[in-house]
Amino acid sequence: MRFAQRNAQVSARITMDVCDDRTRRYTVGTMSALPEILAHNTEFVKNKEYEAFLTSPLPNKRLVIITCMDTRLVELLPKAMGLRNGDVKMIKTAGAIVSHPFGSVMRSVLVAVYQLEADEIAVVGHHGCGMTGLSPGTVLEKARQRGISPDTFQTLMHAGVDLQQWLTGMESPRAGVLASVKMIRDHPLLPQDVAVHGLIMDPETGRLEMLSPGEEGDE
Ligand SMILES: [Zn+2]
Repeated sequence: MRFAQRNAQVSARITMDVCDDRTRRYTVGTMSALPEILAHNTEFVKNKEYEAFLTSPLPNKRLVIITCMDTRLVELLPKAMGLRNGDVKMIKTAGAIVSHPFGSVMRSVLVAVYQLEADEIAVVGHHGCGMTGLSPGTVLEKARQRGISPDTFQTLMHAGVDLQQWLTGMESPRAGVLASVKMIRDHPLLPQDVAVHGLIMDPETGRLEMLSPGEEGDE
Protein backbone atom coordinates (compact mmCIF):
# COMPACT_ATOMS: atom_id res chain seq x y z
CA MET A 1 0.00 0.00 0.00
CA ARG A 2 2.77 2.38 0.94
CA PHE A 3 4.47 1.54 -2.32
CA ALA A 4 1.31 2.30 -4.27
CA GLN A 5 0.93 5.64 -2.50
CA ARG A 6 4.52 6.51 -3.26
CA ASN A 7 3.96 5.61 -6.91
CA ALA A 8 0.94 7.88 -7.01
CA GLN A 9 2.94 10.71 -5.51
CA VAL A 10 5.74 10.24 -8.00
CA SER A 11 3.26 10.03 -10.85
CA ALA A 12 1.62 13.25 -9.73
CA ARG A 13 4.98 14.95 -9.53
CA ILE A 14 5.82 13.87 -13.09
CA THR A 15 2.52 15.22 -14.33
CA MET A 16 3.07 18.55 -12.58
CA ASP A 17 6.55 18.79 -14.02
CA VAL A 18 5.27 18.35 -17.53
CA CYS A 19 4.01 21.49 -19.22
CA ASP A 20 4.10 20.41 -22.81
CA ASP A 21 0.78 18.94 -23.96
CA ARG A 22 2.38 16.42 -26.26
CA THR A 23 4.55 15.02 -23.50
CA ARG A 24 1.61 15.11 -21.09
CA ARG A 25 -0.33 12.85 -23.43
CA TYR A 26 2.36 10.17 -23.15
CA THR A 27 2.87 10.64 -19.42
CA VAL A 28 -0.76 10.48 -18.38
CA GLY A 29 -2.30 8.50 -21.19
CA THR A 30 -0.15 5.39 -20.96
CA MET A 31 0.66 2.78 -18.36
CA SER A 32 4.11 4.05 -17.56
CA ALA A 33 6.88 2.04 -15.94
CA LEU A 34 8.43 5.27 -14.79
CA PRO A 35 6.76 5.78 -11.38
CA GLU A 36 8.06 2.42 -10.16
CA ILE A 37 11.49 3.15 -11.61
CA LEU A 38 11.67 6.54 -9.92
CA ALA A 39 10.53 5.09 -6.61
CA HIS A 40 13.23 2.45 -6.83
CA ASN A 41 15.76 5.12 -7.77
CA THR A 42 15.00 7.13 -4.65
CA GLU A 43 15.70 4.09 -2.48
CA PHE A 44 18.77 3.15 -4.50
CA VAL A 45 20.40 6.51 -3.95
CA LYS A 46 19.27 6.80 -0.34
CA ASN A 47 20.81 3.41 0.48
CA LYS A 48 24.02 4.32 -1.38
CA GLU A 49 23.73 1.20 -3.52
CA TYR A 50 25.65 3.12 -6.17
CA GLU A 51 28.87 2.71 -4.24
CA ALA A 52 29.41 -0.76 -5.71
CA PHE A 53 29.39 0.75 -9.21
CA LEU A 54 31.70 3.72 -8.83
CA THR A 55 34.28 3.83 -11.61
CA SER A 56 35.84 6.19 -14.13
CA PRO A 57 34.51 7.17 -17.59
CA LEU A 58 37.47 5.40 -19.24
CA PRO A 59 36.88 1.74 -20.22
CA ASN A 60 39.14 -0.54 -18.15
CA LYS A 61 39.34 -3.08 -20.96
CA ARG A 62 39.82 -0.36 -23.61
CA LEU A 63 36.98 -2.04 -25.52
CA VAL A 64 33.88 -0.79 -27.34
CA ILE A 65 30.96 -3.20 -27.68
CA ILE A 66 28.22 -2.56 -30.21
CA THR A 67 25.30 -4.84 -29.56
CA CYS A 68 21.55 -5.22 -29.97
CA MET A 69 18.83 -3.71 -27.80
CA ASP A 70 17.28 -7.19 -27.33
CA THR A 71 15.87 -7.52 -23.81
CA ARG A 72 17.43 -10.96 -23.38
CA LEU A 73 20.88 -9.41 -23.52
CA VAL A 74 20.37 -6.66 -20.93
CA GLU A 75 21.96 -8.65 -18.09
CA LEU A 76 23.03 -11.77 -19.96
CA LEU A 77 25.60 -10.14 -22.23
CA PRO A 78 27.70 -8.46 -19.51
CA LYS A 79 27.52 -11.55 -17.32
CA ALA A 80 28.37 -13.94 -20.18
CA MET A 81 31.31 -11.76 -21.20
CA GLY A 82 32.52 -11.19 -17.64
CA LEU A 83 32.01 -7.44 -17.83
CA ARG A 84 31.67 -5.15 -14.86
CA ASN A 85 30.74 -1.52 -14.56
CA GLY A 86 33.53 0.58 -16.05
CA ASP A 87 34.97 -2.20 -18.24
CA VAL A 88 33.66 -1.21 -21.69
CA LYS A 89 31.88 1.40 -23.75
CA MET A 90 28.53 -0.20 -24.67
CA ILE A 91 26.57 1.03 -27.68
CA LYS A 92 23.16 -0.49 -28.27
CA THR A 93 21.21 -0.35 -31.47
CA ALA A 94 18.62 -2.63 -33.09
CA GLY A 95 20.42 -5.61 -34.63
CA ALA A 96 23.86 -4.19 -33.67
CA ILE A 97 23.68 -2.63 -37.12
CA VAL A 98 25.95 0.26 -38.02
CA SER A 99 23.85 1.56 -40.87
CA HIS A 100 25.60 4.79 -41.75
CA PRO A 101 29.31 5.68 -41.73
CA PHE A 102 28.50 9.14 -40.39
CA GLY A 103 25.61 8.28 -38.09
CA SER A 104 25.52 8.43 -34.30
CA VAL A 105 26.77 4.88 -33.73
CA MET A 106 29.93 5.41 -35.74
CA ARG A 107 30.41 8.79 -34.08
CA SER A 108 30.20 7.08 -30.69
CA VAL A 109 32.84 4.57 -31.77
CA LEU A 110 35.19 7.34 -32.87
CA VAL A 111 34.66 9.30 -29.65
CA ALA A 112 35.43 6.15 -27.65
CA VAL A 113 38.64 5.62 -29.65
CA TYR A 114 39.94 9.19 -29.71
CA GLN A 115 38.61 10.60 -26.46
CA LEU A 116 38.22 7.63 -24.17
CA GLU A 117 41.25 5.46 -24.91
CA ALA A 118 39.44 2.50 -26.47
CA ASP A 119 41.56 0.55 -28.92
CA GLU A 120 39.45 -2.51 -29.70
CA ILE A 121 35.90 -2.87 -31.03
CA ALA A 122 33.53 -5.85 -30.87
CA VAL A 123 30.23 -6.03 -32.74
CA VAL A 124 28.06 -8.59 -30.91
CA GLY A 125 24.95 -9.72 -32.75
CA HIS A 126 22.75 -12.58 -31.59
CA HIS A 127 20.73 -15.48 -32.91
CA GLY A 128 16.99 -14.92 -33.18
CA CYS A 129 17.36 -11.18 -33.72
CA GLY A 130 14.20 -9.24 -34.51
CA MET A 131 16.04 -7.27 -37.16
CA THR A 132 16.42 -10.40 -39.28
CA GLY A 133 14.08 -10.08 -42.22
CA LEU A 134 12.43 -6.93 -40.87
CA SER A 135 9.87 -5.83 -43.44
CA PRO A 136 9.48 -2.08 -44.01
CA GLY A 137 5.95 -2.68 -45.32
CA THR A 138 4.89 -4.28 -42.06
CA VAL A 139 6.40 -1.50 -39.94
CA LEU A 140 4.82 1.24 -42.05
CA GLU A 141 1.43 -0.49 -41.97
CA LYS A 142 1.57 -0.64 -38.18
CA ALA A 143 2.53 3.05 -38.11
CA ARG A 144 -0.49 3.80 -40.27
CA GLN A 145 -2.74 1.83 -37.92
CA ARG A 146 -1.34 3.84 -34.99
CA GLY A 147 -2.47 7.05 -36.61
CA ILE A 148 0.42 8.19 -38.79
CA SER A 149 -1.14 9.84 -41.81
CA PRO A 150 -0.35 8.59 -45.34
CA ASP A 151 0.46 12.24 -46.08
CA THR A 152 3.36 11.95 -43.67
CA PHE A 153 4.82 9.02 -45.63
CA GLN A 154 4.42 11.01 -48.83
CA THR A 155 6.07 14.10 -47.35
CA LEU A 156 9.04 12.07 -46.11
CA MET A 157 9.47 10.39 -49.48
CA HIS A 158 9.34 13.75 -51.27
CA ALA A 159 11.97 15.01 -48.83
CA GLY A 160 14.26 12.22 -50.01
CA VAL A 161 13.84 9.83 -47.08
CA ASP A 162 13.92 6.25 -48.35
CA LEU A 163 11.75 4.62 -45.70
CA GLN A 164 11.84 1.26 -47.43
CA GLN A 165 15.59 1.07 -47.24
CA TRP A 166 15.82 2.66 -43.79
CA LEU A 167 13.44 0.13 -42.25
CA THR A 168 14.88 -2.92 -43.94
CA GLY A 169 16.47 -5.36 -41.54
CA MET A 170 19.34 -7.74 -42.19
CA GLU A 171 19.50 -11.02 -44.04
CA SER A 172 20.85 -12.88 -40.99
CA PRO A 173 22.58 -12.00 -37.70
CA ARG A 174 25.87 -13.17 -39.20
CA ALA A 175 25.43 -11.00 -42.30
CA GLY A 176 24.46 -8.04 -40.11
CA VAL A 177 27.53 -8.34 -37.88
CA LEU A 178 29.89 -8.78 -40.81
CA ALA A 179 28.40 -5.73 -42.56
CA SER A 180 28.82 -3.65 -39.38
CA VAL A 181 32.40 -4.88 -38.91
CA LYS A 182 33.19 -3.93 -42.49
CA MET A 183 31.56 -0.51 -42.11
CA ILE A 184 33.70 0.24 -39.03
CA ARG A 185 36.90 -1.30 -40.31
CA ASP A 186 36.68 0.59 -43.62
CA HIS A 187 35.89 3.91 -41.99
CA PRO A 188 38.30 6.61 -43.16
CA LEU A 189 38.60 8.07 -39.64
CA LEU A 190 39.34 4.81 -37.81
CA PRO A 191 43.04 4.25 -37.03
CA GLN A 192 44.51 1.12 -38.62
CA ASP A 193 45.74 -0.24 -35.29
CA VAL A 194 42.22 -0.56 -33.83
CA ALA A 195 41.03 -4.19 -34.00
CA VAL A 196 37.41 -4.78 -35.05
CA HIS A 197 35.82 -8.13 -34.14
CA GLY A 198 32.50 -9.73 -35.06
CA LEU A 199 30.71 -12.11 -32.71
CA ILE A 200 27.32 -13.79 -32.38
CA MET A 201 25.76 -14.58 -29.00
CA ASP A 202 23.21 -17.25 -28.17
CA PRO A 203 20.50 -15.21 -26.37
CA GLU A 204 19.66 -18.13 -24.08
CA THR A 205 23.03 -19.57 -23.05
CA GLY A 206 25.21 -16.51 -23.68
CA ARG A 207 27.61 -18.62 -25.74
CA LEU A 208 29.76 -16.51 -28.08
CA GLU A 209 30.85 -17.43 -31.58
CA MET A 210 33.70 -15.45 -33.11
CA LEU A 211 33.00 -14.55 -36.73
CA SER A 212 36.01 -12.62 -37.90
CA PRO A 213 39.12 -11.88 -35.86
CA GLY A 214 39.96 -8.20 -36.00
CA GLU A 215 43.35 -8.70 -37.56
CA GLU A 216 41.96 -10.60 -40.56
CA GLY A 217 40.57 -9.14 -43.74
CA ASP A 218 36.90 -9.07 -44.55
CA GLU A 219 34.97 -12.29 -44.94
ZN1 LIG B 1 18.54 -8.25 -31.81
